[in-house]
Amino acid sequence: MRAKIVAGNWKMNKNLAETETLLAELSAKLPDSTAEVMVAPAYVNLASAVRTLDNSKIEVIAQNMHYAESGAFTGEISADMLLNIGINTAIIGHSERRAYFAEGDEILSKKVVAALKNGMRVLFCFGEELEDRKSGNHFKLVESQLKNVLFSLEPAAWSKIVLAYEPVWAIGTGETASPEQAQEMHAFIRKTIADAFDATIANNVTILYGGSVKPGNAEEIFSKPDVDGGLIGGAALVADDFIAIIKAI
Ligand code: PEP
Repeated sequence: MRAKIVAGNWKMNKNLAETETLLAELSAKLPDSTAEVMVAPAYVNLASAVRTLDNSKIEVIAQNMHYAESGAFTGEISADMLLNIGINTAIIGHSERRAYFAEGDEILSKKVVAALKNGMRVLFCFGEELEDRKSGNHFKLVESQLKNVLFSLEPAAWSKIVLAYEPVWAIGTGETASPEQAQEMHAFIRKTIADAFDATIANNVTILYGGSVKPGNAEEIFSKPDVDGGLIGGAALVADDFIAIIKAI
């Protein structure tokens, strides 16, 4: 049985005090769930979030990391720095990193390799732009995003990979892929992985959907057989909304 996951990407929101308040509220209201729950606060608040959530079932994860072990990369954070404060999972390939920080397949590939080499888990994001969907190129595009970054990995590496399909046109826009569109793409992703590796790897990999998931639409999206949970942006910043989404799984 593959893991169900609900992960909250807080992006560049919540200062230290606000982070502590939201974490306290989430901890207090966390339902008993079979899903793994993750939150990704801003870098500067990660260490304190790990301390605050000590003994909690909520895992603190990073929004990004650099591929180098150390060195002259002003403003960047390494895998070792994350591991050293108790962070074992990093989001890699979020569409905002791709769009605003020019992170393409080559850089993302280095990041994934660095994370795995350091024993970290990777939450790898990918998804098409609106033009790709309109022109019917979305399956090809998603296939190439997966292939260029993940298909040269050793089969064993897949136990450390979580996928998040996030159509860019649905992120922070209020527009969601329909549950059928999400299911169609998730099934395609699983088949693509089965063809490149094998059916066991494809069946065991958790595939999250991300893009304007809210309490009102989570249950229907999560009910689809190949959707194993969600990567949540805006709704992860409001404790009651995030809790409702966890309960929907
Ligand atoms: C995201 O940024 O990963 C995301 C899914 O955002 P939102 O839920 O706000 O669309």
